Amino acid sequence: MIGGVITPHYKNTAKSETKIMPVPDKVEIPMVHHIGAPCLPLVKKGDEVMVGTKIGDSEKFVSAPVHSSVSGTVSDVRKILFPNGSYVDSVVIKTDGRQTVDPGIKPPEVNTREDFLKAIRESGLVGLGGAGFPAHVKLNPPKDKKIDYLLINAAECEPYITSDYRETIENSWNVISGINIVMEFLGIENVIIGVEDNKPTTIKILNDIADTDKKITAVPLKSKYPQGAEKMLIYALTGRIVPAGGLPMDVGVIVMNVASISFVAKYMKTGMPLVSKRLTVDGAVIREPSNVEVCVGTYIRDLMDFCGGFTEDPYKILMGGPMMGVAQYTLDMPVLKQNNAILAFNKKQSTLPEQTACIRCGRCVRACPMKLMPQQLDIFANSNNTVQLEKFNVSSCIECGTCSYVCPAKRHLVQAIRKGKTLVSMSRQKK
Ligand code: SF4
Ligand code: SF4
Repeated sequence: MIGGVITPHYKNTAKSETKIMPVPDKVEIPMVHHIGAPCLPLVKKGDEVMVGTKIGDSEKFVSAPVHSSVSGTVSDVRKILFPNGSYVDSVVIKTDGRQTVDPGIKPPEVNTREDFLKAIRESGLVGLGGAGFPAHVKLNPPKDKKIDYLLINAAECEPYITSDYRETIENSWNVISGINIVMEFLGIENVIIGVEDNKPTTIKILNDIADTDKKITAVPLKSKYPQGAEKMLIYALTGRIVPAGGLPMDVGVIVMNVASISFVAKYMKTGMPLVSKRLTVDGAVIREPSNVEVCVGTYIRDLMDFCGGFTEDPYKILMGGPMMGVAQYTLDMPVLKQNNAILAFNKKQSTLPEQTACIRCGRCVRACPMKLMPQQLDIFANSNNTVQLEKFNVSSCIECGTCSYVCPAKRHLVQAIRKGKTLVSMSRQKK
């Protein structure tokens, strides 16, 4: 693997069997859980909904419908402020506690590739590893792109998070079954499941139940962050290099997260769309660190209460891991489909150190998995130099945080680079 860094794992919840959280009194389901076009609400205040009722959709190709995770009454359709500063339509549902399933829910009839892609779209599946890319788009590459590898991402390289690990232990048959379904309908012959070598149980279980002619194999990867980043995983498992600005399909590969592939099997059996999610809840101030399955739209506040509350006031709440997670400004933010962890830390752990001048040590360059020059991007972003930012390929940054992690001067590199990416995208839009 190119670049990367060895981080402490803190996989405290690896042995924590998934708890099912009771349905809360109220959920809030935003119309955006994915990359692409937001959905428009299909319901209004006062409407009755059931588990699996479609409550939002879009006519755009790069999008995925949204379904109710509970039965109850729509109490509001409003705008919610996301941590990225955008306002998103959101449906608030007062639950009736009965969890009545929508009568339209039944296993999809799938005989052809087209049926399969349509079913995946209807399921509302988005990349469950955190990226939230609509699955029906990923699974539908243009005809001229020959795909010969399906790679399953079970690396889970971010510290603390163990939700995918629990998926492989608790639902291993669904993982293999989902793989077989995708192989059949997309005509892919080779499958490799990439797992960091700190999870030998996953590798053994999946290899034990995979097919005997070894078309599906689980292989160990060095435990190194960000081993699960798509381009890193492709290189580690196939030796293929995705070109800058390119996609996995450009090198004949589709990558799916292990929880996503497991969901494919569940959906084909039941027809129940993506309405619940397993998350790791951990961090120094969480009283009972756990893996919890919740209704999509559950407020973080309710989830924290279910995990015993806080041992002290949280200073930072992250959706996602400590390297790439997004800080939340309120506990009244709902869980989204693609969330895989909520972490809570105290002030000491969360306060960013003062940055000092760059000493040109080059550690950030050696660690960057995308072969970028973070120290230069830092300079160009801070001087608003979009020409140089473009030249030094700022858009290829995957915001993995590795450069910031290794920097002895504690430069706030990712923050600066993120700003640089925004400057470049604004300048492109102007042009
Ligand atoms: S955040 Fe961007 S620049 Fe920094 S190491 Fe990751 S990919 Fe490279
Ligand atoms: S790691 Fe930090 S100090 Fe070293 S070159 Fe990069 S930005 Fe400068």
